Amino acid sequence: MPSDEVPIGDAVRIVGAARRVTVLTGAGISTDSGIADFRGPQGLWTRDPAAERRSDLTHYLADPEIRAAAWRARLALFEAGHQPNAGHRALVELEQQGRLQALVTQNIDGLHQAAGSAAALVHEVHGSVASVACVGCGRHAPMDEALARVRAGDADPACPTCGGIQKSTTVLFGESLDPDVLDAALMAAVDTDVLLTVGTSLAVGPVNQMVPQAARAGVPVVILNAEPTELDELADVVVHAAIADALPALLGVRGS
Ligand SMILES: [Zn+2]
Repeated sequence: MPSDEVPIGDAVRIVGAARRVTVLTGAGISTDSGIADFRGPQGLWTRDPAAERRSDLTHYLADPEIRAAAWRARLALFEAGHQPNAGHRALVELEQQGRLQALVTQNIDGLHQAAGSAAALVHEVHGSVASVACVGCGRHAPMDEALARVRAGDADPACPTCGGIQKSTTVLFGESLDPDVLDAALMAAVDTDVLLTVGTSLAVGPVNQMVPQAARAGVPVVILNAEPTELDELADVVVHAAIADALPALLGVRGS
């Protein structure tokens, strides 16, 4: 990306003037931590179409093979030990300045909290892989508990209470988003001085509605993404750059 196409100075000025910053993050902030995005050229679903079926509730409930593959993928994700990067750390610095209004994320990887972001500010609209839930009785438990059984040879660990199917507490296709989390996200898009989106193509609704909501309310919108997004025309400034390099610069922090 040629640097003369990157109006980062305008973005620095707009975000720097804001007392309260609402941030929406997507897969692009975690790719520098080694976590594949879904639909990009190197994306998980592009390279492995079976992975997309694992993310569909109907297939997941119907097919024990798909569940076994999903548990293997969860185990691999945890054993890879992905660490937060400079982009995640830059947002922690923004919070330490007292300027982070809300951190809405489409990511399920928990890396914002791992970097040090306060859990109370993080709204995980697509859920989290940190825990599991039983689709039968609703029992919640830490992911570690289920993965210990997978490691011990249980391909599809059933709920210890009712014997029902367990899944991670991520939102699969066919499931609804938590309305309270979505409401908090949409509210944070308008109750702020600027909306900054980071590493999301803004193609997935309803969370992408944060952008038109902010624009309609007169809240400046800054988009930082490696590629053009579906909503670039609604932004005051669009920066196309690598996230882990550009986000600390954009926020005027070190990211270390
Ligand atoms: Zn159960």
